[in-house]
This record gives sequence, structure tokens and C-alpha cells, in this order.
Amino acid sequence: MHCKKTAWETAIKQLEESAAIAGLSHEILELLKKPQRIYTVHFPVRMDDGTTKIFTGFRVHHCHALGPIRGGTRFHPDNTLEDIKALALWMTIKNSLNGIPAGGGKGGVVCDPATMSRFELERVCRAYIRAISPLIGTWKDFPGADIGTNEQTMSWMLDEWEQIHEMTHDPAAISGKALVLGGSEGRPSATGLGVMFAVRETCKYLGLQMKGLRVAIQGFGKVGSWAARLLYDEGVIIVALSDVYGGILNPEGLSPYEVLKFVEETGSVVGYPKSESITNEELLCLDCNVVIPAAVQSVITEENAPNIKTRIIVEAANGPITPEGEQILLSKGTFIVPDILANGGGTTIAHLERVQGLCDHYWTEEEVRKQYNIIFTQVYNQVYHVAKERNISMRMAAWVKALKRLESAIKARGWV
Ligand code: NAD
Repeated sequence: MHCKKTAWETAIKQLEESAAIAGLSHEILELLKKPQRIYTVHFPVRMDDGTTKIFTGFRVHHCHALGPIRGGTRFHPDNTLEDIKALALWMTIKNSLNGIPAGGGKGGVVCDPATMSRFELERVCRAYIRAISPLIGTWKDFPGADIGTNEQTMSWMLDEWEQIHEMTHDPAAISGKALVLGGSEGRPSATGLGVMFAVRETCKYLGLQMKGLRVAIQGFGKVGSWAARLLYDEGVIIVALSDVYGGILNPEGLSPYEVLKFVEETGSVVGYPKSESITNEELLCLDCNVVIPAAVQSVITEENAPNIKTRIIVEAANGPITPEGEQILLSKGTFIVPDILANGGGTTIAHLERVQGLCDHYWTEEEVRKQYNIIFTQVYNQVYHVAKERNISMRMAAWVKALKRLESAIKARGWV
């Protein structure tokens, strides 16, 4: 029986391997192996039945060498500090890779939004922001959304922040909020759009046609459902979809728009009429052109990697493949577009949201998408060429490129 690697162990292994290739000094590696600040908070929230529950929350600043901290907020019952640390490290690398003038961080609360009322969730959001307020701010750390948080939760958090600061209008303090409060056009689809761009660029470089490509997507949440719709619009055949309850398969193709309607009515993809049931595990091992894990971390390990048949994996989720699983896939020639490249749309458009908020001047969705398309295409191209030139994986190439930029900032600051 194998012991599943934690996200933190995976992140540290990726850091060590890429640091060796990048020729990073021992001091810089040691600096990046430890988050700069770890904040754990415990705060009381009055529940609807009159009782008081004590919640635990985190905010981790991994490294601010490149600018103020940027990273999402995860509300999940299984949240651990170790996972939040890993996600914060990945944000440092992702922001660096994508040329964003921001450091990496992540936050979260151990809670299950699905079991809370709307009012309980609002009180948790507001209490969390009050608890971490010494650590955050427009030029210090601007939290965004992640699993379990959305436009509404981020809007409550912005409102609480502005109330704490005597009603100062401060739209750049929180990202992922409602449009009417200074959110960005294109934010909801941002990460899914990047995933679609990742498939498009991979097809270009591998000489494949996007139209007719057979794709399976694990996770039909914010990222997976947008990726599915945008890929479908490009002529891709979505053969399988899944969520935490299970998966659905139709070799002729599924319409993600119709599946979304079904999910809105029933709460799950499971039972969708024009499909047969499959498990999440079976979905990952389907014989198709592209598999997109868009749910949680560590779903592809040394146990199931030998059974994976797809030629291409685009990592929409953070850390879906363990290092041991990746070794097996790379030896089979699987082309992996790593998370820090494939799902960089969220953080890049959050950065564009911040720029708009700082100027209090807002762009159209077309302008936002155009800017992100330019950024993504350039970064993908650079990573692909580093991978080719140095004969390393796309993941290592992306990390090396990110580490080089970080190294320059760390040296310029005189930290080492
Ligand atoms: P979400 O909560 O909207 O959706 C998650 C989906 O995964 C849901 O369909 C859920 O049912 C499913 N799921 C959960 N646990 C599962 C399991 N064990 N097996 C199979 N399916 C499972 O979350 P999201 O925002 O879409 O995020 C998905 C992934 O993408 C996460 O890894 C997140 O860190 C990453 N990510 C998100 C963003 C963003 O902008 N939201 C940006 C970058 C990376």
C-alpha cells in the first residue's frame, strides 16, 4: 500500500528538482522552502441556531520578492495548513512564470459551505477578513477566490474590508468580487479560458487539429465547466465529465451547456440522461486525446499512472499529479501542460482586475481576453522552447523560467 504524497511534499519536490536544473543557490532554495509568514486564526461565528462555533482559518505568505501577495481563499472541510502552504508556494511560482508583479500566498477556512446557510457563510466570510486584516491590504496582500468561495463571498469580504477602513472605496483589495463592486469582466471564465488556450497551443505545437479532439474533464466546477464550454465552442468533443459524486461518459460527445442545466437542477452530473456512468478513476484512464484534471490535488499517482492512456494531460487543478505518477507518465511520452501554466488564467485576470481597481477604470470582456491571450501565448511559447532546448519536461521548464525571475528579484533586493 502506497502512502499518498501531500501537496506540500509534491511542491517541495518540484522546487528542489527545478532549482537544481536552474542552478539556484542553496540560500535561495532554503528561502523558498519556507513560507515567509504563516498566520493561523481562530474566530467565533454565531450560527443560525444561536450557538457559537469556533472556526480555524489560515493565510500564508510564501514569498513577496516580486510584489504584494496574491492568492486565493479556499473554504473546504479538509483544509490543512500543509495544503495551504503548498498552494501558496505554487502561487509564487505561477505569478513569477506569468510575469505578474505579485508574490504568492493562499488562505482558507476549515468549513463546509454546503452545510451552512447563506447568513452563516456571510458571517464566516466577514469574521475571516476581520481576523486576517492585519496581514492583508491593497499593497500588501489581496486575496481572491478558490474552491468553496465565489463572487458573492468575495463581495462580502470586500465590503467588510471597506467597513473596517471607514468605508474607504478600495476595489483593488479583494479580487473575484461582483462586477458592480469593481470586479473584472471575464473573471468567471478566466481559468477555464486559460485551459482552453493551453489545449489550443498544445495542438499547435504537436501538430494536432483542435476540432474533433476527444477530451475528458474531471471536475465540473467553476474551472472544469468553463473549460468544457469554451473547448466545446472550439469544436472539441467532450466525451466525459465528472464531479465529486461520479462521472458520465458519452463517446459521441456531451454538450456541457446541457449538462450544466442538468447540474443546476439536480446538483450533480451523475444521472445525466444521454450518458453512461463511470467513476472518476475510470475517467482519468479513458482512451482519449486529452485528459483535464480540474478537481483536486494528487489524483494521478504511481498507482493509476500505468493505466493512463491519453497522450496529453492539461492540469487545470493545482497539483493533480504526484511526482511518482509524473515519472511514469513522462516515461510513456505523455505530454503534460503543468498547472502553473495551464491554470494561470485565474491569477492573471485577478491581476488585471487589480489594475482596473487601482485606476477605477474598467475594461470590456474583449479587452481582458485579448490581453490574457497575448500573455498566455507568449508564456506557453517560452516554456515550450525552454523544454525543447534543455530536453526537460514542460513542468521543469515552467519552474526554471519562474525561478530565474524570482532569483533576479531576490538578488536585487539584496536578500542573498
Ligand atoms: P469548484 O469547487 O468550483 O469545483 C470543483 C469540482 O471538482 C466540483 O465539480 C467538485 O464536485 C469536483 N470535485 C471535488 N472533489 C473531487 C474529487 N475528489 N474527485 C472528483 N471531483 C471532485 O473549484 P474550482 O474553482 O473549479 O477549482 C478546481 C481546481 O482548479 C482546484 O484545484 C483549484 O485550486 C484550481 N484552480 C482554480 C482557479 C479558479 O479560478 N477557480 C484558478 C486556478 C486553479
